[in-house]
Amino acid sequence: MRTLLNTLALFCVMACSVASGMSGDDASNRLQHADAIKSSNPEQFAKELESLGKQTSQLTVPQQQYLQYLQGWRNAFDGDYPRAIVALEGLVDDAVDINLQFRAGATVINVLVVALHYEKAFSRLSQLLERLPRVTDSEARNQGLAVAAYLYNQVSQYDLGLRYAEQLIESGPNTAVECNGRQLKMEALFKGSRLRTPTGEFQAAIDACTRVGQPAPANLVRTYVARSLLSDGKVDAALHLLQQHYDEVVQTHYPRLLSEFDALLADAYYRRGDFSHAQQSAQRAINNGARNEYSEPLAAAYRILYLVARQQDDTSSALAYHEKYAAADKGYLDDVSARQLAYHRVTHELTANRMQIESLHRQNQLLELQRENNNLSIALLVLGLGFISYWAYKTKLSQLHFMRLSRHDGLTGIFNRHHFVEQANIALSAARESQHKLCVLLFDLDHFKSINDRYGHATGDSVLRQAVAACQLHLSPGDLFGRFGGEEFGILLKDCDMEQAQQRADQMREAIARISMHEDGMEPGVSASFGVAATPTSGYGLSQLLSDADAALYRAKRAGRNRVMSFDAADRSAAA
Ligand code: GH3
Ligand code: MG
Ligand code: MG
Repeated sequence: MRTLLNTLALFCVMACSVASGMSGDDASNRLQHADAIKSSNPEQFAKELESLGKQTSQLTVPQQQYLQYLQGWRNAFDGDYPRAIVALEGLVDDAVDINLQFRAGATVINVLVVALHYEKAFSRLSQLLERLPRVTDSEARNQGLAVAAYLYNQVSQYDLGLRYAEQLIESGPNTAVECNGRQLKMEALFKGSRLRTPTGEFQAAIDACTRVGQPAPANLVRTYVARSLLSDGKVDAALHLLQQHYDEVVQTHYPRLLSEFDALLADAYYRRGDFSHAQQSAQRAINNGARNEYSEPLAAAYRILYLVARQQDDTSSALAYHEKYAAADKGYLDDVSARQLAYHRVTHELTANRMQIESLHRQNQLLELQRENNNLSIALLVLGLGFISYWAYKTKLSQLHFMRLSRHDGLTGIFNRHHFVEQANIALSAARESQHKLCVLLFDLDHFKSINDRYGHATGDSVLRQAVAACQLHLSPGDLFGRFGGEEFGILLKDCDMEQAQQRADQMREAIARISMHEDGMEPGVSASFGVAATPTSGYGLSQLLSDADAALYRAKRAGRNRVMSFDAADRSAAA
């Protein structure tokens, strides 16, 4: 419920005060008043609705529909999504007032997203955008633009997110509308990797929101700034920014934002070596996050708790946190891919429907012309039908392309973490049945940050691709290879014991060390550290295997990098 309240509050800060088209009588005034206070004074809002609900027979049809909209909103606020969806969807097609139709459409999309009905949300969104040009009420229009930008950002369609965010900015200069638009624009630019380092535009967005008294979006923008400072190694600057605005964030009562701040603080403290504050912040991120929701900050917080436990050689806590981290990370990635798949499926279904209608139309024309014996037109139409079949074929191809995109890493072409985990779990349960041994390798490129710093990101990217290609030469059919993020990779080797895994890891390590960034083989060279775990010691659970391989990788880093270490069960029993 709180999640929805905040999502709605962000979308509707400016859009939920007035609906046009009502007459100026008492009932209309009361409806408008209820509308205006629904976020700021929920108790009063509920009372107003109850009292208006007792007089429905005295209301005109548009007024009754306005009341139905507000009741739908109230149901959503209370977390009763099924009722909210019924009330709002009834208005999307049937409300007399096009502006109310539109508002109901925008609000129901919010509810559908929170209730995880992504496909329905995207279908409704495309309908909403088709209606956009006919909407006369600017606030309803802005609500639609905000929903579109938000949802496109959620499925990584940042160009589309940006387009709607920019329309929003133009539509309400110096108001909460501009603030909302700027926050969504910065999200699109930052997450779409268009802006990696903090620029004046981030500050301009923060200022635009502060000016109109909107601390929540202002601080969302600060999370992007803090993230880029952290990834640039500017830990103190990130820490300062987060600490300075922490109290303000607490005042917003927005759980997702608070947990984002806490998770970033935990990361900053950890990087500074302040483990006790890192643990406190991570724990707060977990406690503050919306319940029953897997999110990025939740996974990030468990990761920090795991890293701290590992630093402190507390192996049993490290394992417990790693399991929670893996579960939160998987839950979050599942949600991301559910959203993305829903988007692609709906987009393709719409295109396919349009083509089918077009094809039927042309077939009808063809029949007509055959009756008239018009040969030239027949030839042209047959040609047109040919094109339509060609486009149908292309659509199928691009659908396959999207499936591939959702499973593979864009830079290196190997599995992404999510797909690797899915496939590894399948392989592990088959191996458990047949009692075959499996091994897991984790590796991380050494001092990769300094490669980027010295030679630039493009060279860094090329090193990543070369490292993957070098390792692929040592894989057998059926082995799995995935990029876990950044410069960290996982490999699952089938039918192999610890000794063989160690040898293969060593071959890969040597192959990576032969990569040269310059024809003259100038220093510094590329290298990687490996950690190995095997089913005889770690069992057939993926989480345990990954956690053990990670512990071994960590030892390899501490022992001086560019080496392979195997997990040793004695490590675990010694620390337990
Ligand atoms: P260590 O030996 O301890 O692993 O040090 P490191 O520098 O490799 O580790 P750190 O985690 O500090 O830095 C990883 C760097 O990898 C930081 C980030 O900018 C860079 N990176 C992550 N993803 C990519 C990418 O896709 N392309 C490029 N070029 N760099 C990336
Ligand atoms: Mg590294
Ligand atoms: Mg790393």
